[in-house]
Amino acid sequence: MQFHKRLFICVAISIFSVHVLASEAIISSEQKQTATQLMQTALESDLGFDIVESLTTEIGPRLGGSEAEERARVWGKELGESLGFDKVTIEEFTMPFWDRGHLHISLTSPYQQELYGTALGGAAPSKESINADVVYFRDIHALTDVKDGALQGKIAFVDGDLMVKSQTGAGYGHANQRRRIGWQHAQRGGASALVVRSVGSDSHRFPHTGMMSKDGDKWATIPVIAISNPDADHLRRLHSLSKPIEISLHSESKWKGEVSSGNVILDLIGSEKPEEIVLIGGHLDSWDLGTGAVDDGAGIAITTAAAALIAKLPKRPKRTIRVVMFGAEEVGLLGAFAYAKQHEANLKNHVLATESDFGAQTIWQLVSNVNPQATILIDEIGKILSPLGIVRGGADVPGGGPDIIPLAAKGVPTIRLNQNGRDYFDLHHTPDDTLDKIDPDELAQNVAAYATTIYLIADSDVELKP
Ligand SMILES: [Zn+2]
Repeated sequence: MQFHKRLFICVAISIFSVHVLASEAIISSEQKQTATQLMQTALESDLGFDIVESLTTEIGPRLGGSEAEERARVWGKELGESLGFDKVTIEEFTMPFWDRGHLHISLTSPYQQELYGTALGGAAPSKESINADVVYFRDIHALTDVKDGALQGKIAFVDGDLMVKSQTGAGYGHANQRRRIGWQHAQRGGASALVVRSVGSDSHRFPHTGMMSKDGDKWATIPVIAISNPDADHLRRLHSLSKPIEISLHSESKWKGEVSSGNVILDLIGSEKPEEIVLIGGHLDSWDLGTGAVDDGAGIAITTAAAALIAKLPKRPKRTIRVVMFGAEEVGLLGAFAYAKQHEANLKNHVLATESDFGAQTIWQLVSNVNPQATILIDEIGKILSPLGIVRGGADVPGGGPDIIPLAAKGVPTIRLNQNGRDYFDLHHTPDDTLDKIDPDELAQNVAAYATTIYLIADSDVELKP
């Protein structure tokens, strides 16, 4: 199966390479040849899968600021050194640490039933067990309308809808609101705790965790728990039968003070313009329920493997290729903001930035946000990627990935290689985010797309800034 799928792509590449020789100019025929060969090598390589297997197995879950995340940084540094990067550094920063702790949640009326839940990032502990009547809200809008103090002594439950599965992950931003800001309204209403329907597209009894948003500089002072989609369905049906619902919960999640985190930086120094940086990366931390294979061990593996394959070329590309393994992304893009701050004076030399943080299913689209001349370069790269099944998308799509947000805000141009995200929100932030969910062939296609694209941009003289 694995062999045949890869063989098909190899044949497609050799047929394609006959045609690409025709149009020269922005990419030389020598660069095209190198890129096509690199694509082939990446498709046949197991390096990406080996990296994500090593990270998830040898390090395990890596909550931002934890001892495990620190072990992951050492792992990342040693990996970079063993793969032949020219310079490997760890840049530390400090951050507040939130710990999940133990949770028990169950239905106590109209009968006893265990619920499958998990605390949301930033939630407070319950001092003791809370047992209270549930007030049902059909969605986040209903909860935002609640009157101050109207929920005294109650547990608020905010329902919503199962996310529709889609290639682009559309719908996450909207669904996410109940996770992000629900607590602010429940707390304003005086609720003892908030329970929310998990933000996800699966029908398994796994809860989806995730960070809440601060209100100014304040975090929740009540427990906030996400329950699995089937458990939320169950509460909705009980509510529609007008049954009085009661929930009991005990949660130990809490903030534990300042700790260290850090970004791991792996550089391939450019041969002609070493000061110009093409930045790629993923985030090294993960949520603690699974082993962070899909989110974002895959992104670490894809970008590190792509750069490592470029490192094996006889000559370094003109510009520096920098892989950043961002720390503490899940808990608020803390590594991303630390990087942008630490490199503030040098951001003008960051010619491009992009992150892989949407799983490891096949990449289907290349979008960009660069100047018009550079758009022609990205169009040409799009053509070279077509044997991988990748189509050229919008030339004015802002983004580049969550950890790129602070860089893009400072004017760094971006591209994004969009993965098919159909299954992403089945697994996202759940105990089910484990290595078996990654298909080695699909991961190899990702590495091939990144290696080809990044090589061509790093070896180009085209300025990408607007
Ligand atoms: Zn992620």
